[in-house]
Amino acid sequence: MSFVYGIVPSRRLGRSLGISPIPFKVCNYSCVYCQLGRTFNMTNERKTFFDVNVILGELKEYIKVYGEDVFDVVTIVSEGEPLLFTPLDELIDGIKKMTSRQVVLITNGSLFYREDVRKEVLNCDIIMPTFDAASEEVFKKINRPYGKITYEMMYDGLLKLRKEFKRQIWLEVMLVKGINDSYEEVLKLKEKIEKIRPDRIYVNVPVRPPAEPWVKIPEKENIEYAKRVLKACSIEKMAEGNFLTLHDDYTSVVNILKRHPLMMDDVKRNFKDSERIIEKLLEDPSIEKYHYNGKVFFRFKKV
Ligand code: SF4
Repeated sequence: MSFVYGIVPSRRLGRSLGISPIPFKVCNYSCVYCQLGRTFNMTNERKTFFDVNVILGELKEYIKVYGEDVFDVVTIVSEGEPLLFTPLDELIDGIKKMTSRQVVLITNGSLFYREDVRKEVLNCDIIMPTFDAASEEVFKKINRPYGKITYEMMYDGLLKLRKEFKRQIWLEVMLVKGINDSYEEVLKLKEKIEKIRPDRIYVNVPVRPPAEPWVKIPEKENIEYAKRVLKACSIEKMAEGNFLTLHDDYTSVVNILKRHPLMMDDVKRNFKDSERIIEKLLEDPSIEKYHYNGKVFFRFKKV
């Protein structure tokens, strides 16, 4: 098992070293735009999926080999939803003891209605929750949450987090054509977001292959409108930069693919012996080749 992956170039964070404490596609949402495909392990139960010391041991080994200079941040980001992992506070504290780099948590923000979850994340430097909907109806359409999670619970959780968490909150809004990209929906989002008072807002669009084939990137004018009204930074372009892996081989590529689809061009540009890697990817039953938005992607799928 590899809990540490990357380095992955991030559009918002620079060179991100990823830590994943959740098994593939264990989540409490099944977002229509999810780049990992549909959620087949839907749960709202928090668990110690893996031993925190084993995860931290892998990070320690990575830092021993490569040092801290090769990454800008450590990002807790999963093949599923990281707030489902407990004890998240021990994981965050353990990372902070090992590195002076900022610790970032990328999350769907669903479980902040729970006091214990809000307490466990207090030591992060940056929390990046998703916020795509201004109503229960849109929430259900775009994020397709676990049955018991309501829009009010999720929204109230984010408001409480803002009161208690004194560091950076960077909210990410994923715009999907025909669901939440109309001028009317964007104005409703603005009203809700103003109450959360995030330090930054990012507008994103589904640049990677989505879970549902009908998901489309909004028109340029709608993206521009949302950026202007929400006073957001835009990350609709793919990140460019170098991937750096523990072992520059097939396993490293698959480890990234478990968390992050890759363009075929990325594999060609960033990995030695890319021809052999691409050949193997094309034969691997756990890897799917996917055409999207005029580009060829590889992504991990459950077999
Ligand atoms: S995008 Fe994130 S929250 Fe949504 S289904 Fe995928 S892993 Fe879960």
